[in-house]
Amino acid sequence: MRKQIAAANWKMNLTFQQGEKLLDDILGADIKLKEYQQTLFAVPFPYLLMARSEVEELRNYYVAAQNCYHRKNGAFTGEVSPEMLHSLAVPYCVVGHSERREYFNETNAMLADKVNLCLENFITPIFCCGESLTIRESGTQNQFVETQLKESLFHLSAEKIKDIVIAYEPIWAIGTGKTASTDQAQEMHAHLRSILGKQYGKDVADNISILYGGSVKANNAKELFSCADVDGGLVGGASLIADDFIQIIRALK
Ligand code: PEP
Repeated sequence: MRKQIAAANWKMNLTFQQGEKLLDDILGADIKLKEYQQTLFAVPFPYLLMARSEVEELRNYYVAAQNCYHRKNGAFTGEVSPEMLHSLAVPYCVVGHSERREYFNETNAMLADKVNLCLENFITPIFCCGESLTIRESGTQNQFVETQLKESLFHLSAEKIKDIVIAYEPIWAIGTGKTASTDQAQEMHAHLRSILGKQYGKDVADNISILYGGSVKANNAKELFSCADVDGGLVGGASLIADDFIQIIRALK
């Protein structure tokens, strides 16, 4: 079974104390994850150590960074490198979220550098891809995400790509309350898996987890996660509400 993942993306929300309470409430539900299931918390940088200590003793619960810089080290005031994250034992990092692409002008080439640095530092990148509404309406979403993967991931060897998690996040569904239908999600996930298969072979493609992101809620998670090629979700808004995220974790295959 591929890894099935419920990943919370807190974005720039919650004070430290609110974050601590949210984690206590979610972890208080004491959900025992199966061997192939994982729950991740992508928290703001200053909360990583607190969150790590909350999940440390729990099986298959981990923290993630929401971003990292695309250079190894140096005079980049305010940035955080994958090496720094590794020194805090952070095992996952979100790379290329659409908000970073849009507001911070992150390009596919820059994201390729981030992916490389994460892997060099034993961090699994959660690589985000997805199209805007204009692209979806023009019917070119398949080619668009294919280019995102080609330009940021396809330089990797088959051995390395195995260590990546992909998150398909249609921009028109992020934070809008508009979710992709199960047909739309499954169709794109199957497409992603088929292009991974063409590049790396079916065995490799079949083992890469592809998460869906875009207004995943407590009431639609089960249906979305039940799609054959959807391996869980990257969840923004609903991950800030303990009861909702608990239901989303429970909805994992
Ligand atoms: C996200 O932050 O990646 C996201 C999908 O947000 P939301 O669940 O709020 O749409």
